[in-house]
Amino acid sequence: MELINYIDFLLPRFCLHCNIKLNVNEKYLCTYCSDSLRRTNELSLNHLNRIKSLCDCRTLYLFEKDMPIQSLIHNLKYNGIFRIGIYLGRTIGEEYKNIFLDEWHIDSIVPVPLYHSKQAERGYNQSYYIAKGIKSVTGINVFKVLKRIRYTQSQTELTLSERILNVKGAFKIKRFKNVKGKRLLLVDDVITTGSTINECASVLLEAGANKVYAASIAIAGSDSHSIESRNSK
Ligand SMILES: [Zn+2]
Repeated sequence: MELINYIDFLLPRFCLHCNIKLNVNEKYLCTYCSDSLRRTNELSLNHLNRIKSLCDCRTLYLFEKDMPIQSLIHNLKYNGIFRIGIYLGRTIGEEYKNIFLDEWHIDSIVPVPLYHSKQAERGYNQSYYIAKGIKSVTGINVFKVLKRIRYTQSQTELTLSERILNVKGAFKIKRFKNVKGKRLLLVDDVITTGSTINECASVLLEAGANKVYAASIAIAGSDSHSIESRNSK
């Protein structure tokens, strides 16, 4: 404990959201910011369960703009702090371990891939680190069976129908033997309309996957249009 205090004194760490100095036992966020993360509710899970190629889905938090969850995701994706992915992946694993193992009987974890130039620019795929975090708790192996074969523009400015078109045909299988007959858990950082995860899941199913499930750190926009309006068309 004394050594940890000493290291903390020499290399102080700060809350990624409010910038206050962190205590020894705090990670990435101070207790106040961490307590203000909003867990998913019934409504957001219903939203996810409407993604048609998925059997089921779990997500930890509601994504909220200008809130601690955005600071976590932003630092994970754009500031090189890939360890946040491992940390939150462990949290997902601890929370849903029994579901993944005893209810869904997951054979392997599949991170949603980035296009190669995007990954080269970022240096890593954040979803891969989330997957590794889940593996460290559940013992389920991670296989990079999907490849993104085409650059897809950022989805943030697109309407729902544009998002679906944007990701259509963007993924390909690269390891069929790890897909055929398997029960897979797709992992992504944030799920918004679900069009990316739905496209990945349908490619896996076409390649012979038995069942596809998904998990993410956060879900965005569950109170707006999205999946529901797609299914009602
Ligand atoms: Zn804080």
